[in-house]
Amino acid sequence: MPIEFEAPKPIVQMQFVLKTVAEEMMRAHSRYFDEHEHEIPWDYIEFMHTAMKAMGVGSLAPNEKGNGQGSDGQKERRPSIAYQVLASQIEMLSWGDVGMYLVTPGGGLGAAAVQAAGTSEQKAKFLARFSEEKPTLGAMCMTEAGAGSDNSAIRTRAVLDETTNEWVLNGEKIFVTSGDKSFNEYEQLGRGFIVVWATIDPSARRAGMRAFVIEAGTPGVKVTKLEHKLGIRVSDTAAISLVDARVPYDHILGSPTVEKSTSGFKGAMATFDATRPLVAASGLGVARAALEFLKEKLTENGVQIRYGLPRQKLTSIERDVIDMEIMLKSAWLMVVKAVWMADNKKSNALEASMSKVKAGDVCTKITQKVVEILGPLGYSREFLAEKWFRDAKITDIYEGTGQINRLVVARQILGYSGSELR
Ligand SMILES: Cc1cc2nc3c(=O)[nH]c(=O)nc-3n(C[C@H](O)[C@H](O)[C@H](O)COP(=O)(O)OP(=O)(O)OC[C@H]3O[C@@H](n4cnc5c(N)ncnc54)[C@H](O)[C@@H]3O)c2cc1C
Repeated sequence: MPIEFEAPKPIVQMQFVLKTVAEEMMRAHSRYFDEHEHEIPWDYIEFMHTAMKAMGVGSLAPNEKGNGQGSDGQKERRPSIAYQVLASQIEMLSWGDVGMYLVTPGGGLGAAAVQAAGTSEQKAKFLARFSEEKPTLGAMCMTEAGAGSDNSAIRTRAVLDETTNEWVLNGEKIFVTSGDKSFNEYEQLGRGFIVVWATIDPSARRAGMRAFVIEAGTPGVKVTKLEHKLGIRVSDTAAISLVDARVPYDHILGSPTVEKSTSGFKGAMATFDATRPLVAASGLGVARAALEFLKEKLTENGVQIRYGLPRQKLTSIERDVIDMEIMLKSAWLMVVKAVWMADNKKSNALEASMSKVKAGDVCTKITQKVVEILGPLGYSREFLAEKWFRDAKITDIYEGTGQINRLVVARQILGYSGSELR
């Protein structure tokens, strides 16, 4: 198969459109929503929903038309560049504003978990809503106090009530992206859901972990807190409590019984294999925004980057800019490889984690360097450089911190299991 470094035509065309969206609908409002944390950007949400529907894509998710497989083995087909397209969309929207990108209507991590661990029937049932009349969001609740990096330590418990054939869930989840908009019912939004990871057998540890789809408004479930954050402040990050929350039997993703395997946990890992390159893409969008802004300011001040000169003849700023461009492009290539593998149904656990490690480093380094080179202009709230610096760090934290993804990479390369290398 020939190696092609040109972006496919659909991506180039789509980027042109999304750049306008990013400039007009996102950048123009970045500062306002940064300073008014927890206000909801309804105009953006409405606009994106209408625009995506007009383009025939119901939401920001790989455009499933069926050649994948449900967890029940049913065939589905998917265009071969669906994840590549999605990564490019996310990079461009995050170039606009990464916090607002996280508020884009769509299933988010919740839908990704259904994609990764659901049967084809469950996918049809739960994912259709993201293409319907109203903008709708989904979220995934894995993290608990004491169970973040080691998510096999989750204590949220799901017990089957055999008299009603319902699952009963109890526990406390924290740091749920879009937890509020996915669970609480807003007039402007369709009915979303949260996917909650719980254990059906605490003694089985990873083998006992299962995900449950919980519809918005389910009694017993409550958003108890919205975090105040360093960056991505327009994106809600919720704490959610579950007290005797009743969930229909068939809302469990995966097998309702515990086998002597880690299949439950594999559902969680498959979710992250799909989403980590996308998180990487979002971080690189922020880094590109910062780097382009720096170059604009340098040009305004008569500083040209003299590409092609021997390194010792370049100024320190020129070297810094060129080094940042190298970091950005090489990190992007890792994202492209990871999503290409996902599109081609190749196991990409190694590449997904590698791309996220690299992007986490690159976007924190680039945004920091841009603030540094710009000096007071970088630190001032007059410009967005200081905001991008704050926004970038999350890339290195959620969906596996830099340290945890380095462990995943090391295990994959050295052939160790999770218990052998931690
Ligand atoms: C804004 C935001 C949004 C989020 N959204 C979601 C979401 O939608 N859903 C969800 O479920 N979670 C979400 N999270 C949670 C996020 O995934 C966790 O914060 C992250 O996985 C780290 O877990 P922790 O907070 O428990 O930190 P800890 O696991 O306590 O880690 C603390 C530090 O120790 C390091 N560390 C831990 N174990 C090791 C080890 N074995 N080796 C080396 N270093 C180690 C970590 O890298 C980190 O630096 C979100 C978090 C934030 C901040």
